[in-house]
Amino acid sequence: MSKTLFEKIVAREIPAQIVFEDDLVLAFHDIHPAAPTHVLIVPKKPIARIGEATADDQKLLGHLLLKAAEVAKKLDLQNGYRLVINNGAAGGETVPHLHVHILGGHHLTWPPG
Ligand code: AMP
Repeated sequence: MSKTLFEKIVAREIPAQIVFEDDLVLAFHDIHPAAPTHVLIVPKKPIARIGEATADDQKLLGHLLLKAAEVAKKLDLQNGYRLVINNGAAGGETVPHLHVHILGGHHLTWPPG
């Protein structure tokens, strides 16, 4: 099976501005930032989307969220930030490899469009 775009970033086959890595996750700047700070954090395991995660992924998903919060702290987003997971085409998903958007750096409006 061919690698997802984010697996290629994990494998350093495609360049990215990496901000955090451990054995389970990788965080890197989004190529088209939607906020002054826009970082993606992905599990290295290629789960297509949150709707396809299973009970086996429970620990990994907890780790992903905890590391997202750690990365937000490292990026000085102490005034607030938003974590977003888009699921499926109507949810705005364009890359079929689970990722959490970490958005911040200015006041984010609500609700999203
Ligand atoms: P989503 O629309 O939720 O699937 O998010 C996919 C995100 O990946 C978008 O915000 C894109 O800007 C971002 N993206 C696509 N290609 C790259 C890349 N090569 N490096 C970093 N971010 C990317």
